[in-house]
Amino acid sequence: MSLENKEPAPAPSDFIRDIVAAHVAGQKYPRIHTRFPPEPNGYLHIGHAKSICLNFGIAREFGGVCNLRMDDTNPAKEDVEYVDSIIEDVNWLIAGWADDKLGLKEKGKTPETISGDGKRDFFLPATVGQASRLSPFANETARDRRDACPTLEPFYASDYFDQIYDYAEQLIERGKAFVCDLSPADMEFYRGAPDRPGKDSPFRNRTPEENLDLFRRMRDGEFPDGARTLRAKIDMASPNIWLRDPIIYRIKHAEHHHTGAKWKIYPMYDFAHGLSDYIEGVTHSICTLEFEVHRPLYDWILESLGLPRALPKQYEFARLNLSYTLLSKRKLLQLVEEKIVTGWDDPRMPTICGIRRRGVTAEALRNFAYNIGITKFNGLTDVAVLEHAIREDLNKRALRRLAVLRPLKIVITNFPEGKVEELDAVNNPEDESAGKRKIPFTREIFIERDDFQEVPPPKFFRLKPGGEVRLKYAYIIKCVEVIKNSSGEIIELHCTADLDSKTGGATSSRKVKGTIHWVSAAHALDAEVRLYDRLFTEAEPEKDGRDFKSVLNPRSLEVITAKLEPSLKDAKPELRYQFERIGYFTLDKDSNSPKLIFNRTITLKDTWAKESQKG
Ligand code: ATP
Ligand code: MG
Repeated sequence: MSLENKEPAPAPSDFIRDIVAAHVAGQKYPRIHTRFPPEPNGYLHIGHAKSICLNFGIAREFGGVCNLRMDDTNPAKEDVEYVDSIIEDVNWLIAGWADDKLGLKEKGKTPETISGDGKRDFFLPATVGQASRLSPFANETARDRRDACPTLEPFYASDYFDQIYDYAEQLIERGKAFVCDLSPADMEFYRGAPDRPGKDSPFRNRTPEENLDLFRRMRDGEFPDGARTLRAKIDMASPNIWLRDPIIYRIKHAEHHHTGAKWKIYPMYDFAHGLSDYIEGVTHSICTLEFEVHRPLYDWILESLGLPRALPKQYEFARLNLSYTLLSKRKLLQLVEEKIVTGWDDPRMPTICGIRRRGVTAEALRNFAYNIGITKFNGLTDVAVLEHAIREDLNKRALRRLAVLRPLKIVITNFPEGKVEELDAVNNPEDESAGKRKIPFTREIFIERDDFQEVPPPKFFRLKPGGEVRLKYAYIIKCVEVIKNSSGEIIELHCTADLDSKTGGATSSRKVKGTIHWVSAAHALDAEVRLYDRLFTEAEPEKDGRDFKSVLNPRSLEVITAKLEPSLKDAKPELRYQFERIGYFTLDKDSNSPKLIFNRTITLKDTWAKESQKG
């Protein structure tokens, strides 16, 4: 068994892929080039996974490339911790699937220095296939290379600050940008409202020479934060508020995590973004719907510069919203800072690292992202869709093991004391190649407390006084005596086994209605098991402005000590386990030999569906 990624689901089709397919058919571009552009101001979440799968998926399906680019234009909120986590999470999600589509940056070179000679029409980041000149691992697979070089270098918008600055000067020279001295409050006032035109800034008609002089002095740090801005000169009466002379540069005396103390001014996102796309040779700049209203500005900036190469185009799709889940970096940060969860990678978090730690595989996450599709309409995806994708994936790959979460002891009175019988157990009925293992059977075993009821309801097919049940891979047993302590609690059951009822035995075909799991008491390993559940009790935690903290699920984490079959002492973090009849589990990174800690990734069945039917 390995977690090696197999072929993914067939390529989906949607309106963005239709557009790309038409461009490929019409040979509009030499190569399809997308990008995934996170701002490193938080950890990536499952919504970002949708965008990553879309952008890398398109590169994969249409023979293109996709750049991972840090959109790092705001030094105040960004941090290398986030940069590192983004690199790790993207790599994990696309490894073995689309990592050969990753635009690779030649160390020490930015697209600017490569394309700066003006002779090359396209900056084409090297892909693995063409990278022999760059990569010492050229003959190896993308996977080998990834293992050898686990942190691929992403692109940084901040690497283009010189070039973006230069474009700003060009806009000034073309009379399309001006330095404005309005205070933020005045600027707000002059902007107008969606139903009311704005007013021209009194600084709008400065000459290019004056603007250039002021802009250079802004760059050189002569003015304090907020004293001046550089604004695009578009149209203060435009119905689109983003076209009302938007700010494209602001003064910020702040150190940047990637460029250090070099800059005193920083480009605004809208200005840097389209230019970064252009600099990298991006053809399809795919983002979420909230950027639709920015698209005219995106186009205006690129068109106003008279750029020589083909311009990138922006396309928008609906972001992922998931029930029982918050997907806002700000809110996720709040969960972390207020210690509602243990960190960004708490397995209850919808972050990629949290989902990974919970035991979900990259393949399951990609299948989910593929199956939900890409549309233009905002909606709410049922978290059950994600859970279904996780179960389907784990059912295929998980090794079956026996584990008892809430133990009840059984003494099998007709089984000899001290005898250990090794029984065969199947590792994965979905995968014959996973083979078999031995599990020890002895006179004293544990079963699940729930699997015995003294006064059972009708149709209770598990163990009851005088009743019979089959022990998985072992014998049929009959409950002959219930032992209680002085306060009337059941502490132990005495049973007899039909010693001919094992596979191959004379009575093995005898029918009993129920089969339950068990572990040998003498051999069982104690392990901490973390039973994770949804973090919120309501599908829309923030519905009608409610505080999400009022609907936290008090049972989102339960920690118990379970009894595991002995083979689990060799459990590996990269493997997945099904504790039979219970759910899917994975070894947590907090495990520290000999202490075992398992996370429940997901229950076998959807327990929430039952709840909501009851309700
Ligand atoms: P914020 O702007 O609040 O910092 P963000 O989630 O938009 O947060 P970005 O770093 O800008 O964060 O996102 C990177 C890319 O991921 C963007 O292209 C964005 O459109 C996309 N993205 C973000 N959230 C989602 C989501 N829920 N579903 C799909 N794509 C998303
Ligand atoms: Mg954003």
